[in-house]
Amino acid sequence: MGREALIIVDVQNDFCPGGALAVDEGDQVIPVIRQWAEQFASQDKDVITTQDAHPPHHISFRESGGPWPSHCVKGTWGFWLHADLTLPKHFTIFKGYLPDVDAYSGFEGTLAGSNLNLNDFLHQRKVDTVYIAGLATDYCVRATVLDALKQGLATTVLIDAVRGVNVHPEDSQHALDEMRRLGAHVK
Ligand SMILES: [Zn+2]
Repeated sequence: MGREALIIVDVQNDFCPGGALAVDEGDQVIPVIRQWAEQFASQDKDVITTQDAHPPHHISFRESGGPWPSHCVKGTWGFWLHADLTLPKHFTIFKGYLPDVDAYSGFEGTLAGSNLNLNDFLHQRKVDTVYIAGLATDYCVRATVLDALKQGLATTVLIDAVRGVNVHPEDSQHALDEMRRLGAHVK
């Protein structure tokens, strides 16, 4: 049996109320995630955060013809994890750092300060089961969950610890239905 890991997706200032691309109630996931993180750490399980780490004028920004306002530019306030998200020892995955490539999924990112991608990192840590929390249900959480399933990881979405953008009102619900259909547990 492999180990379990908690993956906390993009709980960054720009995705929380007051940020450039705020998710409604995005900050409400924070106390829930903190509890999960404490529990995981106390059981010697890995805690991993992902962060959008865009360069200025990233391809996903409107100014470059993309769908989103400028957000999570590396080193700016919007890029940092929300200050209330105090975490035990954890690993950091950066994604979306190439100017011309967008990345929603944590599996498109690499361990901070290295070239190791998330999948290889999990493999190294002997992780075969992941719990996924964070922002946003219908974008980066969805993409991370679908990639985890593709990699054959047992995958659970922590429903109280995710929130969605809902460009269309049902987007989060559809995303959760899709994740379930493809084999994710939702709890
Ligand atoms: Zn982004």
